[in-house]
Amino acid sequence: MNNRDYYEILDIPRDAGEEEIKKAYRKLAMKYHPDKNPGNKDAEEQFKEASEAYEVLRDREKRQIYDQYGHEGLKGMGFNGFNGFNDIFSSFGDIFEDFFSFGGGRSGGTRARKGKDLRYDMELTLEEAFSGKEGNISFKKWVRCEACEGSGITPGSEVKICSTCQGTGSIITSQGFFRIKTTCPKCNGRGKIITNPCRECNGEGKVQRKKDINFKIPPGVDNGSQLRLRGEGEAGEHGGPPGDLFIVLHIKEHELFSREGDDLFAEIPISFVQAALGDNISIPILGQEELKEVKIPQGSQPGDVITLSGLGMPGLNRRQRGDLHLRLNVRIPKKLSGRQKEILEEFARSEETKTPNIIGKIFGAG
Ligand SMILES: [Zn+2]
Ligand SMILES: [Zn+2]
Repeated sequence: MNNRDYYEILDIPRDAGEEEIKKAYRKLAMKYHPDKNPGNKDAEEQFKEASEAYEVLRDREKRQIYDQYGHEGLKGMGFNGFNGFNDIFSSFGDIFEDFFSFGGGRSGGTRARKGKDLRYDMELTLEEAFSGKEGNISFKKWVRCEACEGSGITPGSEVKICSTCQGTGSIITSQGFFRIKTTCPKCNGRGKIITNPCRECNGEGKVQRKKDINFKIPPGVDNGSQLRLRGEGEAGEHGGPPGDLFIVLHIKEHELFSREGDDLFAEIPISFVQAALGDNISIPILGQEELKEVKIPQGSQPGDVITLSGLGMPGLNRRQRGDLHLRLNVRIPKKLSGRQKEILEEFARSEETKTPNIIGKIFGAG
């Protein structure tokens, strides 16, 4: 077994996705493939090394163990790398077929394959995100053909086992010192010869149907949250499992509240008199019918924040609610009546120290 870092071998970042991993391996496998480098020991080693890295990183469980415990962890679960080329090719048979299109065999249409994932975008108000919601969508999708139970064969009709592949759907050929598995050309991978395809689905095993789907949106979802409805995507092909349906949520902007994680923020406009003297104001709270009375302390400053704990959004994965932060936006009047001006001028005279005088004292002028 190898001791070099697998990510380093494939030259990919630690958070590389499935496709990226596959691509990186493909590149190396093409370069160091024993078929292209006959008798080259160095290429052989590189090929084995890359194959081992790929074997681990493409497998979710192995990758997780490797990420956490390194090579030792893999040994602990009984993984010892590959013994030789035969090992590699029997493990990756399908992949090499994809990579190199050996044997000219693969039309791609007949092997059991998982159905396509579907995506549906949905807009929610902040109130709906707060309380959760029953969702309902209806759309057309491919589902398993009931008439033939997805087999594509007219029920009761004769089915012959393919004689070329003995019903396995693939044939193994030898090229040089390794073996290649390819799709059986006679039955196109079905393993059976269908003499009488299902008329309902033309032998596809699936048909298009309108589908209604109900689902629950839990309280606390955020912008970009995704719901995954397993098996609600398109039907698989030739007996493969169906894909999944992803519902991607978009939260509309709220006129009062903005959101950061589970916390809510609101700008509260108050007059300078309310700021100076203090006041009680009423504000709406999500999930509550009646307004909440909030005390503005005497002498509040512009930008002061009043935090109401536990009145934010519900936590999606926690029981605790976030907080609500009220930022005071003190409004200074732009127009004053004659009387208001008099009052303020009188107020100014009553102040013991004026700000300009303080600055004057500090800088020794005025
Ligand atoms: Zn059918
Ligand atoms: Zn066959």
